Amino acid sequence: MSQVLIVAEHDGNNLNPSTSKTVSCAQTLDCESIAIVVFGHSIETVAEQAARLHGVTRVLTCDRSENADPLAAVIAPQAAALAKDYRYVFGPSTTFGKDLMPRIAALLGTGQISDIMEVVDARTFKRPIYAGNAIATVKAPADATIVATVRVASYQAAAEDGTASIETASVDASLPAHTRYVELRSDTGDRPDLQVANVVLSGGRGVGSQENFGMLYELADRIGAGVGASRAAVDAGYVPNDMQVGQTGKIISPDLYIAFGISGAIQHLTGIKDAGTIVAVNKDPDAPIFEIADIGLVGDLFEVIPELGKQLGSG
Ligand SMILES: Cc1cc2nc3c(=O)[nH]c(=O)nc-3n(C[C@H](O)[C@H](O)[C@H](O)COP(=O)(O)OP(=O)(O)OC[C@H]3O[C@@H](n4cnc5c(N)ncnc54)[C@H](O)[C@@H]3O)c2cc1C
Repeated sequence: MSQVLIVAEHDGNNLNPSTSKTVSCAQTLDCESIAIVVFGHSIETVAEQAARLHGVTRVLTCDRSENADPLAAVIAPQAAALAKDYRYVFGPSTTFGKDLMPRIAALLGTGQISDIMEVVDARTFKRPIYAGNAIATVKAPADATIVATVRVASYQAAAEDGTASIETASVDASLPAHTRYVELRSDTGDRPDLQVANVVLSGGRGVGSQENFGMLYELADRIGAGVGASRAAVDAGYVPNDMQVGQTGKIISPDLYIAFGISGAIQHLTGIKDAGTIVAVNKDPDAPIFEIADIGLVGDLFEVIPELGKQLGSG
């Protein structure tokens, strides 16, 4: 038996693209079937989206009021109960998956394989280490359920031509009462999530202040882009830390990444190496980011950003 169970990430209405990319990873395993489990409340629309993903054979829904908010402590025991019928349990290596999957692994008494970027064979996987400077090949023990997170930047979204069945899963698991949902706070407004945005504008220490980041937000909102930042900008208090891109922030793979006033430290580059096109704007011609940028502009961001805004305005 070689079956994969994928835990869906969603916001109650839409399936997050990270789930589709996790399916693409699962497809590279020589497995009999791929199931997606959707935990939530009133999740018919999400289940239908999951059923359309290519290669998915079943969608299981765990619809109960306790699942209305995605609490890892509540989902984990249910996922672990379902996992006994599966050889693999996968989730995306996003904030959601990083919170949830280690709990599932612990409940199953196994370790977690993190950040799969390539499947070598049924038990062997490649994953980046040392900020992506080395690739480790890791092997899961025989007979253990393989619980893993998938590095979504390494996979394309699956096609949406599937017709999987949708079934209600009955799960016998006692849920903890020690964790409760309070509220969701997001400082990024309606801007696209960094991990799914097609275009990301990012600012570094060179942007200089929280107020100056306003220029980036304005430009981003005009073109529907997400906004990221370097750790130096986060540490300086210019932006909240959920905007940090890099080794200890988010690993992203937009089609277009534009870095303003970011020097190009290796820990930052780790987060963007899968971006389609990298554009760098920096006033220092020797800034290391120019070594990896597809397009580099030596200039002052305080001149370049308003000029870009003007060009967009006149277009
Ligand atoms: C364990 C560890 C983990 C880390 N994780 C991360 C991480 O996840 N993400 C991350 O980003 N960093 C991370 N770092 C920090 C990293 O090493 C760098 O310190 C950081 O990325 C530097 O940010 P920066 O490029 O904004 O700042 P700086 O290196 O100070 O660069 C600022 C740049 O702005 C340019 N500039 C200044 N003014 C202007 C202007 N007016 N116009 C144009 N350009 C201008 C300068 O020429 C300079 O190149 C980590 C470090 C460690 C040790």
